[in-house]
Amino acid sequence: MTRRQRLETLFAQAAGYIDQQTGGVVPAIQPSTTFVRDEQYDLLRDNNIYARDDNDIVRLAEKILATAENAQDALVFPTGMASIAALFRTIRAGQTIIMQSQIYWGTTKWAREFCERRDVKLIEQDTSKTDETIALIAAEKPALVFIETPSNPWLHITDISALADATKQVDAILAVDSTAAGPATSNPLDLGANIVMHSGTKSINGHSDVLAGVLAVDDETRTIWQDIKVDRHDAGAVIGSFEAYLLIRGMRTLPLRMERMSENAMAVASYLSNHDQVDHVFYPGLESHEAHALAKSQMQNGFGPLLSFTVKGDKQRALDVVGKMKLFKRATSLGGVESLVEHRYTIESTTGIPETLLRLSVGIEHIDDLIADLEAALS
Ligand SMILES: *Cc1c(COP(=O)(O)O)cnc(C)c1O
Repeated sequence: MTRRQRLETLFAQAAGYIDQQTGGVVPAIQPSTTFVRDEQYDLLRDNNIYARDDNDIVRLAEKILATAENAQDALVFPTGMASIAALFRTIRAGQTIIMQSQIYWGTTKWAREFCERRDVKLIEQDTSKTDETIALIAAEKPALVFIETPSNPWLHITDISALADATKQVDAILAVDSTAAGPATSNPLDLGANIVMHSGTKSINGHSDVLAGVLAVDDETRTIWQDIKVDRHDAGAVIGSFEAYLLIRGMRTLPLRMERMSENAMAVASYLSNHDQVDHVFYPGLESHEAHALAKSQMQNGFGPLLSFTVKGDKQRALDVVGKMKLFKRATSLGGVESLVEHRYTIESTTGIPETLLRLSVGIEHIDDLIADLEAALS
C-alpha cells in the first residue's frame, strides 16, 4: 500500500472518516456485541456477526495505523503485551526466537517464561551489535527475530535494514517493537521489517488513559499473519469500542504531540549532558550517542520522548533527585502529554540497571518549566 497523504493529514482526518449514517466527522461508538440477520437469515452487513472481531470502530483504528505504517494490514489488541503474545504464540515447539536483550522488562519476563513452557529456544542478544547479530541469525536460523528500537530504558538503536536482510536469508520474520518511536517518527516496514509492533498505550494514544496494542504487517498473505489473525479472532484478545474511540481521538494529534515531545526531549538531553551532577545521558538525538547517525537515518522529525540518564553519586542520591521533582510525575509508562520519571532499579533490580539511572518520558509542557524542575531537583 502506498501512503499518499502526509502523516499529519492522515491522523488529523482519521483517514478521511465520515459517518455514513449521520455525516459526523467523528466515529460513533457502537456498544452492541451482536448483529441481526434479516428474514432470509442473511447478515445485514457481511462482516458484522459478533463483536469479538467485528467492530467498525476498531477497524477504523486499524485502517489509520496500517496506512501510517505503510502496512498491508494492521490489528489492534487490548494491550501491547497482548499483541506481543499473539505474535509469539505463532512460534512452534523446537523453533528458535532471537530477542533483543535488555528491552522492556515486561516483554523479557513474559517471553522467558513463555518460551520455557513451550520448548521454544529463546536467545537474548544485544542486537545493536549488528555484525554479531547477523552471524547469530545465520547460525541459528530462527523463526522470529524480535527487536526494540530505540530500546527501553537503554536507548540502544538496532539497524533495522541490516537485520531485515539477514532474516530474509534464513526465511525468518523480523518484528520491531517501535513503541518508543511511534508511527510518526519511524516506519520499520519501510526499512524491510516484516511486522511492526506498538504499545498503543504510549504515544499513539498519548493521554495515559487507554491500554492498547498494535501489530502491522508488510505482506498480509504471510502464514504468520494468517495465524495471528485467527488467534485474535478465536482467542479474543480484542479492544472495546470505547477504548478504540479514545485511541482514534488521541491519534488525531499524534504527529503534533511527537514533534513537541521530541523537541522537548532533545532540549532536556542537551541540558542534562552539560550538567555537572549528571554522569551520562542516553538519548539517540545527541551526537555523543553511540548510534546517532543510524538513529538519524531510521527516524524522522526527532528522536522521541524517551531518555535515560545516570546521576552522580549513589542510589540514595538518585532517589533524592526523583523525590524533589514536582512536574515530572513519579510513574511508569511513556509517551503521554505529561512528563514522567522513573527510578528503574526500584522496578527491575536484577537486570543490571544502574542504581543511579533515571528514565524520563518528556511530555508537551513548556520546556522552561521542565528544565526548571530538573534544575531544582539536581541542585
Ligand atoms: C509499554 C510497553 C510495552 C507493553 O505494552 P502494554 O500496552 O503496557 O501492554 C511493550 N513494549 C514497550 C517498549 C513498552 O514501552
